Amino acid sequence: MSYIFHRNLQNDYPQAVRGDGPYLIDSRGKKYIDACCGAAVSCLGHHNQYVIDAVKSQLDKLPYAHTGFFTTEVAEQLAALLVGRAHRALHKVYFSSGGSEAIETALKMARQYFVAIGQPQREYFISRRQSYHGNTIAALSVGGHFARRQVYAPILNRSHHISPCYAYRGRNDDETEQQYGLRVADELEQAIHALGDQRVIAFVAETIVGSTLGAAPATAGYFSRIREICDRHGVLLIMDEIMCGMGRSGRHFAFEDEGITPDLVAIAKGLGGGYQAIAATMATQKIFDAISADGGNFQHGHTYIGHPSSAAAALATQRYIDDNNLLENVRARGAQLFDALKQRFADHPQVGDIRGRGLFLGVELVQDRATKTPFAADSNLDVALKKIGMDNGIMIYPDAGTLDGKRGHHILLAPPFIIQSSHIDEIVDKLDATIHSAIAHISP
Ligand code: PLP
Repeated sequence: MSYIFHRNLQNDYPQAVRGDGPYLIDSRGKKYIDACCGAAVSCLGHHNQYVIDAVKSQLDKLPYAHTGFFTTEVAEQLAALLVGRAHRALHKVYFSSGGSEAIETALKMARQYFVAIGQPQREYFISRRQSYHGNTIAALSVGGHFARRQVYAPILNRSHHISPCYAYRGRNDDETEQQYGLRVADELEQAIHALGDQRVIAFVAETIVGSTLGAAPATAGYFSRIREICDRHGVLLIMDEIMCGMGRSGRHFAFEDEGITPDLVAIAKGLGGGYQAIAATMATQKIFDAISADGGNFQHGHTYIGHPSSAAAALATQRYIDDNNLLENVRARGAQLFDALKQRFADHPQVGDIRGRGLFLGVELVQDRATKTPFAADSNLDVALKKIGMDNGIMIYPDAGTLDGKRGHHILLAPPFIIQSSHIDEIVDKLDATIHSAIAHISP
């Protein structure tokens, strides 16, 4: 008997009791290899003593001080580390407790920036279909995850969505990947024109689309074109790196590989590695200066922002990544996992595409590989994959609606940065067995 209002009211969840490197262990002693870090969170695995000690020692020193009254040494150090990583192109850090809050913060900062510089008529955000930016109302409104929006559609904010950059499905036969990417990037300019001169606040996009598309990076040149369009129209670029950032792509910021810098970036998940709840929104000097010159009061705030024990967890997580050169492991193990998946599923009739970057990979499943026909929308393949994965001792992150919010299925893989070669063999074996059983389960 549980008194918790669980995510799914019909599920019986095993009780997690212990962590051991990339494994979680339940109350019956069953071990699960975490091939998705929950939701791309636990980048250092499930028992990192260095981070645990840092949190304990911060709690011994100072558990909490409200940010309306104080700053703290640990939060200052964390902000300095993050700004240093962004080579000062992003110059200030606003802390929060989760990804949705970090996006809400970015949306509000962007709006207040325009009020501060005398353009209060800017009211609109543009974002993309098949994206996810969080579950609070404003974050859900800019998001394009059909299933998560559906129940709340009547109470969501106005939103404007353009196509995702999703070459596997969207590219026409007579286009190169690059031409395709530029075509869908140009939809942003069309949307800005349609909404009117100086009416758009910002464009919001995940650098690599995580849960909704299954680790889909943009095609080469897409984000440079997006940056150009934003600059031409004075529109801010907000990048959501809540899932793909903080090393998951093999770089501290996934946008480094795109050759651009956003005006605002939201980070979370791997920032604190799950050791405490923490997220952040980073802003350029231009945004900071405008709000500062206009009275200096950013109209926002939550009780737990900049929490010292969360900052301690994040500072230790990020230092551990740097001190142990873990981004190199992300790139090496990522390449190894990608190759192993390509090899194992080279002739698999139901594996349509394998994509991603670093330790952030996606496997798209199809009924027919040649025609890319998806499984039936009501097949519940994603549900079967997750359940059978757990039975097989592997945590994976499947989702449905890959094509258009309704049809299509994929699996997101995002293992911890600490995994070794042997873990990759275990992940690929268990994934293969899980895909096989789940497809058999839905098509008896
Ligand atoms: N943005 C992206 C890309 C995400 O993947 C998520 C969560 O999965 C969020 C925002 C929302 O973060 P949170 O669940 O911490 O509110």
